[in-house]
Amino acid sequence: MKSVIIIGAGMGGLAAALRLRHMGFDVTVIEKQKRPGGRSNVLQEQGFRVDIGPTILVMKDTFEETYRAIGQDINRRIKFAPLDPNYRIYYHDGTYIDLYNSMAKLAAECERVEPGVTTRLFRFIGDSARKYELGMDFVARNYDRITDLANPSAALRLIQTGAYQNLFAQVGSYFKTDKLRKAFSFHSMFLGLSPFDALAMYSLITYADLVEGMQFPMGGIYSIVEDMVKLAGEMGVTLRTGTPVEEIIVEGGRARGVRLAGGEVVRADIVVSNADLVYTYKKLVPAQYRRIYTDARLDRMEYACSGYLLYLGVDKTYPHMRHQALYFSEDYRANLDAIFRTKTLPEDPSFHLNNPTITDPSLAPPGHSALYLLAPMPNLQGNVNWDEAAPVVREKLLRQLERLVDPDIRKHIVWERQYRPTDWLHDINAPYGVAFGSLSHGFFQSSYFRPHNVARDIPGLYFVGQGTYPGIGMPMVMLSARLLAERLQREAS
Ligand SMILES: Cc1cc2nc3c(=O)[nH]c(=O)nc-3n(C[C@H](O)[C@H](O)[C@H](O)COP(=O)(O)OP(=O)(O)OC[C@H]3O[C@@H](n4cnc5c(N)ncnc54)[C@H](O)[C@@H]3O)c2cc1C
Repeated sequence: MKSVIIIGAGMGGLAAALRLRHMGFDVTVIEKQKRPGGRSNVLQEQGFRVDIGPTILVMKDTFEETYRAIGQDINRRIKFAPLDPNYRIYYHDGTYIDLYNSMAKLAAECERVEPGVTTRLFRFIGDSARKYELGMDFVARNYDRITDLANPSAALRLIQTGAYQNLFAQVGSYFKTDKLRKAFSFHSMFLGLSPFDALAMYSLITYADLVEGMQFPMGGIYSIVEDMVKLAGEMGVTLRTGTPVEEIIVEGGRARGVRLAGGEVVRADIVVSNADLVYTYKKLVPAQYRRIYTDARLDRMEYACSGYLLYLGVDKTYPHMRHQALYFSEDYRANLDAIFRTKTLPEDPSFHLNNPTITDPSLAPPGHSALYLLAPMPNLQGNVNWDEAAPVVREKLLRQLERLVDPDIRKHIVWERQYRPTDWLHDINAPYGVAFGSLSHGFFQSSYFRPHNVARDIPGLYFVGQGTYPGIGMPMVMLSARLLAERLQREAS
C-alpha cells in the first residue's frame, strides 16, 4: 500500500484524506493547530458555538459528490437548512433589500429600489448562468499544458458573454442604481478580489448564490469538518494535530516525507501539502529544489485581501434579523480601494453580518444570539498596525450594529472574541495574513495559470486546497481534492 502524508487538515486536506484512503492509500494527516479545519474552524465557549471562517455554503453538490466518492451520503449524516433570502443588504441610508432566491420575490425587492428593473435583472441572471456554465468548463479539470486551455466553443462563449470584461462595469450595464450595482457585484470579494478589478466572469458566483441557493449545515459549517474527521477515523486515516511540519524532505530530487518541529522524520511515498501553497514553497521546500516557484516569482504574485472578524455572544434574540446580511458603505469604491489598492484602513468598512442562531438556536444558550461580523481588510502587505487598528474597527462595527440591529446592543454583549489579519498569519501560515485564500483570482492566477496541484520540479509533491486550482472557497477546495485524486489515479494506471 502506498503511503501519503497530507500536511494540513483544512477542508481540502480532509477531503483529500478521505478520497485517497478510499482509493487504498495509507494516509497520515499532520496538522499544525490543535483542532482540524484550518480556516473552517470554530469557537466554542460559554455555550456559544461560532464558525471562525466560512459561513456561506453554496454549490453544496461539491460536498455531496465528495461524500458519494467514498460511498457516503452527506445528507444522511448532516442536516442542511436552505436559506431564503440568501442575504439582507443594508445600505448606508438605513434602507435594505432582501436577496431572495425565489425569482418573483427577488424581482419585487429590486423593483422597490429601481422601478422597471425586472427585465434587466432576469437578463443579468440569465447571462450569469451562461458564465457559470462556461466557468465550470475551466474549473472542474486538471491542467498539464497550456493547450489544455484551448477550447474553441469556450472561447466563443467567452466573447459572447463578455466574461473577460470588468465586473463592476458590466454589472453597471444592467443596473442603473448604485444600490443594485453593489448588490450584484460584491460576490467577487469571496475570492478576495475587488469587483472593480475582477473579471465579469465572476458573476457566476452571484448566479450560484441566487439560483442554486445557500444551505446552512445545522451545527454550523464546522459540523462538516467534524463529520469528515469522524469518517477519516473510521476509515483508518491517521490524524496528528498540534504537530507543525517544518520541512519537506527531498532526496534524490524527490519528496520522501516530512520533518516535524522537534526533529521527528515521517517518511512516505507521496507528500500532499494542504498548507498554503506559497508558504509551502517558501518555508517547507528547501530553496535549492525550487526551480519554478522561486521566492522572487512568489513575491510578484497578486495576493487576496484579509479580514477583521468580531464574534459576539448576546443575551437577547433578534427575530427581525436575517441569518445572513451585508452592510455596504456609502462610498463602495473608496472602501474597496482602501482594501485592495492603498492597503489602508477603510474609513467606513463594509461588512458581512451573520446570525446563525436565526436558523439554529442551539448555537447559543437559550434566549441568546451568536453574531459574526466580517469586515474585509487589506492584507499585511500594507502597513496597518493591528494593535492600534483593531479597537478602531471594532468601534466602527459596533456603531453600525447599534444603527442596524439594536441601539442597546453593547449592554447585551456577554461574550466577545475577535480575529485579525495577523492571526491568519500566525495560526494557519497564511502569507500576508490573507483570509479567504492567498492567491487572488486574476486571469493569470486562475485555471491553467494558477499553480498546479503537482510540483513539476519535485516529483512526489502535490497540493490540495485554495492555493492550487480551482482556487478559493469551500466548494473549490472540495473540487481540488477531487482533481488531486483523479491525478493520482491517472498516474497509477
Ligand atoms: C473569514 C473567512 C470567511 C470565509 N468565508 C467563506 C464562505 O463563506 N464560503 C466559502 O466557501 N469560503 C469561505 N472562506 C474561504 C474558505 O474558508 C477557504 O478557501 C477554505 O476553507 C480553504 O481550505 P483549505 O483546505 O485550502 O485550507 P486551509 O483551511 O487554509 O487549511 C490549511 C491547513 O494547513 C495547516 N498548516 C499550515 N502550515 C502547516 C504546517 N507547517 N504544518 C502542518 N499544518 C500546517 C493550517 O493550520 C490549516 O489547518 C472564508 C475564509 C475566511 C478566512
